[in-house]
Amino acid sequence: MMIMETQTKNFQEIDEKYLWHAMRGAGPSPSNLIITKAEGAWVTDINGNRYLDGMSGLWCVNVGYGRKELAKAAYEQLEEMPYFPLSQSHLPAIKLAEKLNEWLSDDYVIFFSNSGSEANETAFKIARQYHHQKGNPGRYKFISRYRAYHGNSMGALAATGQAQRKYKYEPLGQGFLHVAPPDTYRHPEDVETLASAEEIDRVMTWELSETIAGVIMEPIITGGGILMPPDGYMARVKEICEKHGALLISDEVICGFGRTGKPFGFMNYGVKPDIVTMAKGITSAYLPLSATAVKREIYETYIGSDDYDRFRHVNTFGGNPAACALALKNLEIMEKENLVERSKELGERLLQELAELKEHPNVGDVRGKGLLIGIELVEDKQTKQPAAVEKLNKVMNSCRAKGLIVGKNGDTVAGFNNILQLSPPLSITEEDLAFIVRTLKESIGEL
Ligand code: PMP
Repeated sequence: MMIMETQTKNFQEIDEKYLWHAMRGAGPSPSNLIITKAEGAWVTDINGNRYLDGMSGLWCVNVGYGRKELAKAAYEQLEEMPYFPLSQSHLPAIKLAEKLNEWLSDDYVIFFSNSGSEANETAFKIARQYHHQKGNPGRYKFISRYRAYHGNSMGALAATGQAQRKYKYEPLGQGFLHVAPPDTYRHPEDVETLASAEEIDRVMTWELSETIAGVIMEPIITGGGILMPPDGYMARVKEICEKHGALLISDEVICGFGRTGKPFGFMNYGVKPDIVTMAKGITSAYLPLSATAVKREIYETYIGSDDYDRFRHVNTFGGNPAACALALKNLEIMEKENLVERSKELGERLLQELAELKEHPNVGDVRGKGLLIGIELVEDKQTKQPAAVEKLNKVMNSCRAKGLIVGKNGDTVAGFNNILQLSPPLSITEEDLAFIVRTLKESIGEL
């Protein structure tokens, strides 16, 4: 059926006419892939070309493509009971909330939504109202880091630290402040001084502690270029938050569900965030689902609230039963196949093998944790001047021609569009990993 359709219709033309693509300009995009099939770490386009998806889609297909058990779990739930709102309750959401607590290894209460942006919006609202519940209504400001991405909606975009994504949509949500991110490649001295964390302390003081609601951060900045923090950074930020009475929100939309070799990214750094937001890997993106996990002490400030101060927030599709049932199956697969540990082990090996690339004059740094890896291209290793975007595009195009999809960061305004990103399925085979290494070495070698 599919073959007949592809023969009789020009889907490329229809696509160009009617589909508004994410992050693309208007008009023809001849390099767009139209993917029709996917299995394991591989996707196949409409012309039959195969590509190893080194990005797991958008950092999200953690268990790989083609898992029939996931389709079955969703199908069976849709037949049994397709929908009921979570202003009441249903079994898949109950079971998943319990399971997420196991993954979080602590006592959190879960609010379900559909996307990472919504999970973060929910976190901001819960945090602001928490301060109201505690009698501190003046605490409304959030601090986040430049270069980090937190979502596309007016609050999550306000928290985002990439000017290029924001400036045409302002005014965004109010009360969001930014500080410089930790980046141990460009500022190795930060490992000793933790200056990038201390800056948060200073900003909270200067802004007045009494106005600060919280900090939102990814444990490792992902889309902004896989920026590795000093090991003590997140713990120091948590201490600073406690000192100023602010909440720490860990955005685990990418770092969660094994991506960094731990169940959640914050677990690499020995901290317990007050709020944890998650999406993507929760269902391996087979269906939309996200969650905002809130420490019980915060939730309890809402207990007994009357009509005026309960949490006035509803999400029609949030925690859809089929998505929850699928998520449970997805986590079961991760547990059965030990994918979190696998991400750690394979990631260490991949990092080691890719480290050889540092001999190339344009490779300044190769870094990461688990199956989350960045390769930073520079013009000059001494000055660390970011490589021109043409170099990045050349490598990406060459990889694509050889059958490998890799990602890139992209902040032209700030001058950082020089980092190749890798985030393959955690279930990737060793043979496929070897293909990634080989292809990247060849393509970078062509520079
Ligand atoms: N936070 C982070 C760290 C993300 O990477 C993303 C998406 N890439 C989001 C939030 C927003 O997620 P979504 O696109 O599902 O709204």
